[in-house]
Amino acid sequence: MTDLTYERVVGHLARLKLTRLPDCLDGLAEEATKAKWTYVEFLDHLLTAEIAARTERDITMKTKLARFPFVKTLEQFDFAYQPSVDERQIKELATLRFVAQGENVLFLGPPGTGKTHLAIALGVRAISQGVSVSFVGLADLLDQLHRDAKEDRLTHRLQMLCRPRLLILDEMGYFPLDRLAAQFLFQLVSRRYLKASLLITSNKSYGDWGEVLADPVLASAILDRLLHHSTTVNIRGQSYRLREKKQAGVFHDLTAPGKEAEA
Ligand code: ADP
Ligand code: MG
Repeated sequence: MTDLTYERVVGHLARLKLTRLPDCLDGLAEEATKAKWTYVEFLDHLLTAEIAARTERDITMKTKLARFPFVKTLEQFDFAYQPSVDERQIKELATLRFVAQGENVLFLGPPGTGKTHLAIALGVRAISQGVSVSFVGLADLLDQLHRDAKEDRLTHRLQMLCRPRLLILDEMGYFPLDRLAAQFLFQLVSRRYLKASLLITSNKSYGDWGEVLADPVLASAILDRLLHHSTTVNIRGQSYRLREKKQAGVFHDLTAPGKEAEA
């Protein structure tokens, strides 16, 4: 390749926005000579490098946009510690069929049992498959909705929350929702119904959602749509946070015999 040809190739790559290729062109050309790749094999390596770089960029961007409070993976989840979580069911969810079919997933259970961890892990998996994800804590959403209401931006918020293919609503039930929030949630659930998935975590069982959602009629209308095509994972077990504290010696097990005096 003459210098001129080389320059032209680099110019073409820039024009075609193949941004990864200029960096790996020399290395791959050398390897092609050594390994006696065919022309098509060489092209295959070049395009694979470009696509790998684009996928990585896409994942980084989508992860930023998702606004996870922390990043956890399914591999980091200790299923042995939480036997009420069926590993096979979580693996089935990790195939993301529920996202393809616009179905919902609900993780219910007491604090510290891994609901948010599992929700994020499924979000991370979804992003790796090119799915857009957004994570919203209910407490933050409540604050936001009141600001939006004042600024007449509720419709805009609704549109924004309808955009991601997978929307994670975390910690339903820690705070009671007022009428404004419950009505907003109803609209959100209705708009996304059968089109785009919701993944909700809650420390409350469905029976208690009437209280959480300010109005039993609205609660049943929300649950009706939410649960129609859905998977509920009920987690019963001990808090993992407590286990970490116990291991650090900060917390003494009050239920263990002979420990009362120490507590
Ligand atoms: P929840 O949302 O149910 O209150 P989290 O998912 O926030 O609980 O879990 C609390 C902490 O414990 C997180 O750091 C999470 O990664 C960790 N954790 C919970 N359960 C497990 C588990 N079974 N294996 C590994 N880490 C866990
Ligand atoms: Mg949580």
